[in-house]
Formats: sequence, C-alpha cells, structure tokens
Amino acid sequence: MSARVLVVDDILSNVKLLEAKLAAEYFEVVTAYSGVEALAKVEEHEPDIVLLDVMMPGMDGFEACRRIKQNPKTAHLPVVMVTALDQPSDRVAGLESGADDFLTKPVDDAALFARVRSLVRLKMMTDELRMREETGQTMGLIDAAQTLVESSAPTGRVLVIEDRPESVSAFRSALNGKNEVCAVDSFEEALVQVRSADPDLIVVSLGLRGFDGLRLCSQLRSLPQARNIPILVIVNDGDRRKLTQALEMGVNDYLTRPIDKNELVARVRTQLRKKSYADRLRHNMQLSLEMAITDQLTGLHNRRYMSRHLDTLLTSAERAERPLAFLIMDIDHFKAVNDTYGHDSGDEVLREFASRISANVRGIDLACRYGGEEFVVVMPDTDVDFAATVAERLRRSVESVPFAISREPHKLNITISIGIAASDETGDTADALLHRADKALYRAKREGRNRVVATAA
Ligand code: GH3
Ligand code: MG
Ligand code: MG
Repeated sequence: MSARVLVVDDILSNVKLLEAKLAAEYFEVVTAYSGVEALAKVEEHEPDIVLLDVMMPGMDGFEACRRIKQNPKTAHLPVVMVTALDQPSDRVAGLESGADDFLTKPVDDAALFARVRSLVRLKMMTDELRMREETGQTMGLIDAAQTLVESSAPTGRVLVIEDRPESVSAFRSALNGKNEVCAVDSFEEALVQVRSADPDLIVVSLGLRGFDGLRLCSQLRSLPQARNIPILVIVNDGDRRKLTQALEMGVNDYLTRPIDKNELVARVRTQLRKKSYADRLRHNMQLSLEMAITDQLTGLHNRRYMSRHLDTLLTSAERAERPLAFLIMDIDHFKAVNDTYGHDSGDEVLREFASRISANVRGIDLACRYGGEEFVVVMPDTDVDFAATVAERLRRSVESVPFAISREPHKLNITISIGIAASDETGDTADALLHRADKALYRAKREGRNRVVATAA
C-alpha cells in the first residue's frame, strides 16, 4: 500500500528520522516544520495522513489539528499526534482537538506502520464511500440526507476476550456508556458470541491464561461471520514476536500493557469508524445492485435481470429434466390509455398491473417488466397446461376489476393478451423460447385480444 504522508515537526532530525523510515516502506513523504507550514502543505499536497508533532513554536500541533478538522475539505484527513512519552495529558488534549491516533516518541516501527496503514486504509475507504455516494446522489439513487459521512464517533458492540477481571473492568469503564461491552473468557464462548451477537469490534488479549489468543485470532479470520469484524489485540509490552505474528495474521491494531485509557478509546473509535464505513459501502453496493436489476416504476425485476436469469433457469430445468414455462403479457390498446388519460395515468395502470401479477404468481416464479407495457413471468417446474391456468387467472384478474387512476373517471377497464411457451427440455435456448412466446402473443392479439394463446414446443 502506498500513500502520501505529511510529517510535521519543528526539529529537523525528528523529521528526517520519520521520513527515512517511511520512505524505506515506500511511502511518499512530504515534510513541514511548523503548524502554519503544515496547513499549507495539506492544501498543496493533499496527503493521505498527517503525523503531527505536538510541541512546536507558534501554532502547536493541537491547534494545527483543530484547523485541519474544522475545515470541511480536510476534516476526513487522518491526523496522528506524535507525543512525548512522559506527557499523558497530551493524549487527552490530542483527542479533544480531533486527532485520530497517537504515537509516542521515540517512535516504534511496528507502531508507526500499523497505525499509518490502518488509518490510510480507513481514509481510502472513506474516500471511496464519499465518491460512490456522490455518484449515487447525482443519479438520484441515494438520498442526500443519508449520505453525510458522520464525523462523530460511532458506537458499537465490543466483544472483549480477556480472562483478567481487573483488565475487563478497565475496558468496561473506558468503553461503556458509548458502546455495548460484552466480555468472555473462553475460546468456545468467544466463538458463540461472534456467531450470535454480531459484534462490531473484537478485542483479544494475547496474554490469556487459559488459551492461545493468537490461535483464536487466526480462527476468527477464517470464520465467514467474523471476516469483516476488526480485531484489536492487547500485547504485553516487549512481546514483539506475538505482536508481529498477530499483525501478519491480519489483526487490525494493537495496544500494549499497561493500557492507556485514552489510547484504548482512540483505537476503539478508529476501528468502529472503519467498520461502520465498510458496512455502509457494502450496504450501498447492495442497494445499487438491487437498483440495477429492478424496474423503478413497478419494482419488478427488469429485462436485464430476466435475460441473465433465464439462461440459468433453463440450464437447471434441463439438468433436472423439468419443464419451464414462459408467459409474455401485453396490455391491450395501452396507447389509448396514455392518449386519453395522460402518461401519469398510464403509469398508474402499469404499477397496478405489476402488483396484480405479483399477487397471482408463486414465489419461485420470476416476474419482470420486459418493456413498456409488456411483462414476463418465468415459471420453473411448470408445463404448458399449468401455465395456461395461471395465465387465464391473470387475464381474468385484470379484466374483472377496473384499474383505479387518480384522474377522472378514476376507473378504467383494462384487458391483456398473453402468449405462452414452454421449454421442450432438450436444450431450448432463451431466444427460441422468447420467440415462441412472442408468436403466441401475436396470435392472441390478432384473434381479438383479451385472451391466452399457448404454443407447443
Ligand atoms: P396492442 O393492443 O396492440 O398492444 O396496442 P398498444 O396500444 O398497447 O400497443 P403499442 O405498442 O402501440 O403501444 C404501447 C404504448 O405503451 C406506447 C407507449 O407510449 C406506452 N408506454 C411504454 N412505456 C410506458 C411507460 O413507462 N409509461 C406509460 N404511461 N406508457 C408507456
Ligand atoms: Mg399493448
Ligand atoms: Mg406493445
């Protein structure tokens, strides 16, 4: 992963040290030596992350951070405060100024790269989300009110896997209130919770007495339900071997004992934000997928989906040696509805027709709007005779009850014509089936409309 990192420190040697470390890992580095210069470089270079020293003459790191976070254009830029180890109060001030994370001097390599990578990934996800939501908005697919990427701290369900009571209560007091904390102390219980409680973050102690926390992490990473849940591990200070293994395993972040409460809060917040963005990205993806295969006027599947899915249905019908029926329906003299009562009334009729279709077919049948006023129903495991019964029921359901429209005269008598074809179970193609159904429909029209015509294979 490559990213542009802005390193800010008033001391040249500090800047050079971080620059060398980051460049060796192929990060692109931009540098600044004061708060004011940092703000200018943020505008000019659009970095992916800022490493910001706290103590600087003039504008200090806190003030620079506040300004970055106050500017709507840069508010989503992750900021890591680089604080002195002996100044725990800096961490609180950092959080209050809107910083996303801390590093303590002298900066440890594992910590540096874990945090930078984690925050850069988070930013990429946010950028992607914002871009897609913007597109979704311009296309009218997504409501603008729902899309503001929230800058406030998200909350969530945190599953803590830890067998030291004092440590568990420390977690609870730090995270409770904002989050729902659930603590377990056995391997089995952990898996049960992950499967049933749908946590947003899993905190795993690597110093468990009863079992190996690393083994649990590796199991969690291979569990389908847990794959998208971030994991934060707790390691004993100095246990580098475990930490390296954990990070290689795909654990998202870590904390070292003794745990700093503010650091815990910041780390949890970052992971929860990341999870909530990822969830939203997936949700939006799902939405646009649904949009892409749904007819917006009627809510039925659209022609694109039907065409694709028909091939699949035909193949499985053939494999199972079962028949498959295909109905094509067309509203009679629909043009006259538009011409007489207007296009909006025509739309009302189409919507009502779609809901009558839905009410008259089975769950396994695939109902689609095929084009303007043509609709299709694909019926798996159905022969021509049964399809004709269903078609007749549909025809009657349209003819027997007038369609309501908003305009005078509020009620319209509508009729439909239906053509039926059934697959012959021997490698029928979708095109051939469609063509036969279309021919049957044409006959129904020619023979006077308001009727069902079936063709044999
Ligand atoms: P026939 O009985 O032979 O089917 O006659 P028809 O008038 O129904 O057939 P034709 O194909 O000539 O006209 C179809 C009409 O459907 C023309 C078109 O304006 C209308 N139409 C297509 N899509 C829509 C739509 O989304 N909304 C509305 N209101 N009308 C539509
Ligand atoms: Mg028509
Ligand atoms: Mg037509």
